[in-house]
Amino acid sequence: MLEIQNLSKKFDDFTAVDRVNISVPDGSFLVLLGPSGCGKTTLLRMLAGLELPSAGQLIFGDQLVSDGDKGWNVDPANRRSGLVFQSYALWPHMSVRGNVDWPLKVAKMAKKDRVQRIDEVLKLLGIEKLADRFPNEISGGQQQRVAIARTIAPRPEVLLFDEPLSNLDAKLRVEMRAELMRLHRKIGATSVYVTHDQIEAMTMATHVAVMNEGKIEQFGTPEDLVQRPNSTFVANFVGTPPANIIPVISMNGIAKIENSDIQFKCEVPDVRSAMFRAEDISLSQTASKNALALEVSEVSGIAGRTMVTALAGPLRLTSIVDEVPKLQVDDPVYFVLPDKPACWFDQDGKRI
Ligand code: ADP
Ligand code: MG
Repeated sequence: MLEIQNLSKKFDDFTAVDRVNISVPDGSFLVLLGPSGCGKTTLLRMLAGLELPSAGQLIFGDQLVSDGDKGWNVDPANRRSGLVFQSYALWPHMSVRGNVDWPLKVAKMAKKDRVQRIDEVLKLLGIEKLADRFPNEISGGQQQRVAIARTIAPRPEVLLFDEPLSNLDAKLRVEMRAELMRLHRKIGATSVYVTHDQIEAMTMATHVAVMNEGKIEQFGTPEDLVQRPNSTFVANFVGTPPANIIPVISMNGIAKIENSDIQFKCEVPDVRSAMFRAEDISLSQTASKNALALEVSEVSGIAGRTMVTALAGPLRLTSIVDEVPKLQVDDPVYFVLPDKPACWFDQDGKRI
């Protein structure tokens, strides 16, 4: 198990990471997802041992590796974790082989074993032909492979990634995503992967922790987050397309959409908005119950289906349908809501 218990990090008065609790089973692929500045890198640096927590504990397997309450830390080299940086951070004066060899030398591995291990990981990453090149003689994608090879060479039990693909172009990013997942299955080390890209998160993760202002907004499987988001923040952050969240006025067991005669039965009090999945909204040329008259603002294909979006003031509504509707931008169309929303949110945007 990887256990993060009540972990906090303060920089002077500023709390960058605020009482984080997460525990994941061995071999998990945990993604930390959140907007820039929410504390992802700080949390990852505490896992790596590069930052001493202000409070809380970190446990890898059965080993306590950080105790913020006691101001105590196992140093990075002794905690069997490896970190892959966004910037790759390769040694420019060392060959590919030299870079991968470096952590093995630090670990005082015998020369014969090092040579064997280097060949093994270079092969695993498909870069064995580049062994004698220098970082400035290979592409960005290849450099990232070298950085990953270097990190996994000493067989860490916990692999840490800080936005490792963000410097690669879109096509290479998709390729590397698949390759990292293959690598994870092969070596089985528990991985913690930081990103602000929700598609990356949802496709790679066994578990996702959504962060906002230093706190974990929600921890769960990708499926949990899409089906039962804890807050409008999570609902807006995950899912492709983002969830439809519509403000409502609720009274006497009825929630009504503003400026319309569409209303829903609603047993819970103090409801301020309702969420509808894009798959649950259909399109129609004729008026009917629960139909909002809107104008199409975008039509696009998504995984063999069609996504139709309309803007209505501040509201953005998206429907996903199986057939290809004969619709173009600016065409009028009815968005037909289901009889019941997927969930309700209160005035703080929390799910009720
Ligand atoms: P993320 O990786 O999610 O973009 P970071 O963990 O890098 O976020 O930063 C979280 C917050 O902590 C930011 O507001 C950042 O300015 C602040 N912060 C990070 N490191 C330090 C530091 N060494 N000293 C002071 N503030 C810091
Ligand atoms: Mg960061």
